[in-house]
Amino acid sequence: MSIAETKADETAPVRQVLFSKPDVGEEEIAALTAAVRSGWLTVGPRTHEFEQTFAKWTGVDHAVAVSSCTAALHLALDALGIGPGDEVITSTLTFAATGATIIHVGARPVLVDSSPDTLNLDPDDVARKVNKRTRAIVPVHFAGHPAPMDEIGAIAQTHDLSVVEDAAHALPASYRGKRIGSVSEVTAFSFYATKNLTTGEGGMLTLRDAQVAERARTRRLHGMSKDAWKRYSAKGAWRYDVSYPGFKYNMTDPAAAMGLVQLKRMPDLQRRRLQLVALYERALADVPQIRRPIARPEVESAWHLYAVRLRPERLRVHRDDVIELLRERGVGSSVHFIPLHLHSYYRDAFGYTPEDFPVASDAADTLISLPLYTLMSDEDVAYVADNLRQVLADNSR
Ligand SMILES: *Cc1c(COP(=O)(O)O)cnc(C)c1O
Repeated sequence: MSIAETKADETAPVRQVLFSKPDVGEEEIAALTAAVRSGWLTVGPRTHEFEQTFAKWTGVDHAVAVSSCTAALHLALDALGIGPGDEVITSTLTFAATGATIIHVGARPVLVDSSPDTLNLDPDDVARKVNKRTRAIVPVHFAGHPAPMDEIGAIAQTHDLSVVEDAAHALPASYRGKRIGSVSEVTAFSFYATKNLTTGEGGMLTLRDAQVAERARTRRLHGMSKDAWKRYSAKGAWRYDVSYPGFKYNMTDPAAAMGLVQLKRMPDLQRRRLQLVALYERALADVPQIRRPIARPEVESAWHLYAVRLRPERLRVHRDDVIELLRERGVGSSVHFIPLHLHSYYRDAFGYTPEDFPVASDAADTLISLPLYTLMSDEDVAYVADNLRQVLADNSR
């Protein structure tokens, strides 16, 4: 079913293309229903199966299913022992959760600017901001395009830092032939409703180190030690030991049931996503007022977003006006992201200014994410591209 609708009302746009719509169908509904009927409403066998399937698919030994990517990032930093007095370097061009989870463990988020081509974090700026308090780097794979992991890995190795990838956009993506999830020590994924794989709400940590994985697994559910369970279970399964003040971050079995179906469909879903990207690429190739997203040769991008940047020197209107004009024509769009340094909390708490991050500050004023999801038809893409072209032509200089 297409989300595009033809309207009878002559004043309304001829088509409505929403910004996002989750691709969940009868198979997901059947899996959800079976999970509910089974009686396992919280974490159970399907969560375990999802973890194992996901780990195998990614090519890592350990996967820990959680309630969100935000939970995954917090849990990862906590399990790595990062806390007060520590600094964690991350991209300013990211979602609120990337910065907040660093603050939640008591560490200081040290923001870095973006590279002009991919808008991923700039490794030169990372290197400049490492000091003796730095404990970790959290690269964000912007729009699904993997960050420069060789450069980041080298900096981390030189200074003995942890790397926790925010891969909320990067499923399925790879870097130099390796699936994202298997490149660094720890990687966090999101299964939020808008992401390439969705369980409604959900997330996953993939980990290399067995000890860190075990810590994350225990802390995910109140820090209740399973070893203690095993030790005492002969006398009664009711006995437990709290070995750490843990979190309530577990995934639920109905969510995992959905995730298993989505993961199985991933190759087909991604094939369709790439077709849609190719359609955009062709349709927007000669639009002089925009810069299209690029993919470096060493990566396979997940293409979570199709984010174009306006060229303000060729336009009489601001990006915000373009978004409004598109909306009037029935086209939903969005902005990823308002960089962290432009939000009041970061400005007030850390004194960041727009001039500290020239590339990300410029992107903040020019980025538009166009609709990109597998339920779009070819005609939807053409409609979006034609209307963008027209809006920009009408307002060019
Ligand atoms: C969506 C997103 C998150 C948060 O994911 P949740 O699963 O909603 O917690 C974190 N980082 C980035 C870059 C995201 O886009």
